[in-house]
Amino acid sequence: MDGKADLHVHTTFSDGSLSPREIVELAKKAGLTTISITDHDHIGALDEARQVGRTLGVDVIPGVELSASVEDQDIHILGYFIDCANNRLLDYLSHLRTERFKRAERIVEKLNGLNVPLPFDAVLEQAKHGSIGRPHIANALVDEGLIEFYYEAFVKYLGAGKPAYEKKFHISPREAIDLISSSGGLSFIAHPGNGIDENLLVSLINDGVDGIEVIHPAHSPVLVSYYRGIASEYYLLTTGGSDFHGGRKNGMDLLGRYTIPEAEVEIMRRRLRPA
Ligand code: AMP
Ligand code: ZN
Ligand code: FE
Ligand code: FE
Repeated sequence: MDGKADLHVHTTFSDGSLSPREIVELAKKAGLTTISITDHDHIGALDEARQVGRTLGVDVIPGVELSASVEDQDIHILGYFIDCANNRLLDYLSHLRTERFKRAERIVEKLNGLNVPLPFDAVLEQAKHGSIGRPHIANALVDEGLIEFYYEAFVKYLGAGKPAYEKKFHISPREAIDLISSSGGLSFIAHPGNGIDENLLVSLINDGVDGIEVIHPAHSPVLVSYYRGIASEYYLLTTGGSDFHGGRKNGMDLLGRYTIPEAEVEIMRRRLRPA
């Protein structure tokens, strides 16, 4: 049961810069034994990643990262071990992606109205086959020379409350959690350190989430031990990973720097198939 797992990784099927094959190859190089690909609202990376994983000896857990919201706050829910052939899941994801596409069109219209002449095609070029998000718009703005830095896009236009902000299609955390469990998976609150206060955390636990993401680049050592304490108090599973995206967002050496031991993955598997 030796080995290290990074259970939070993005590919070109959402806003990551590497293909599923490249991710698995990089994971192997980083010494990882297990990864989970957790693209936003998309599971399209899985077949290729699993195939490459079998060749290289990297276990690839089917995953997804769903964006739920409470009032105007984004809450990301990770799902692991989901059944990728589940029709309800597939329909839901496809609907969420259609809504993301429409939202990206609305954001570009707003930008154009603000005299930022970003063509929608430039955004599509960034997103390729993946589910479209604000990071693609930020990258397109940089590539078109309309801003200098990636993060400038959020500060000036795309962040919550900024002039080109548009809400995503609303699903509640409970809907996201139910969707994951009805497709046979385990759900985890992603990076709670990104603004989830204790009241909200407890309400998500009451919604039936299976675990918490404890290890994440946004979590200081103090937060890591705080979330470990919460997990043990509420008998929750724990997970962790790098939230690797590559590109302008992360350095390429991030994959494999935030990991959990294989033993923790084994605990999840046992929860999945109670003895
Ligand atoms: P979306 O799924 O389209 O709402 O985009 C969400 C992603 O945009 C997040 O996962 C972050 O990578 C990025 N993002 C959102 N807000 C900010 C911000 N204020 N600064 C930098 N990146 C952000
Ligand atoms: Zn992302
Ligand atoms: Fe996230
Ligand atoms: Fe993520």
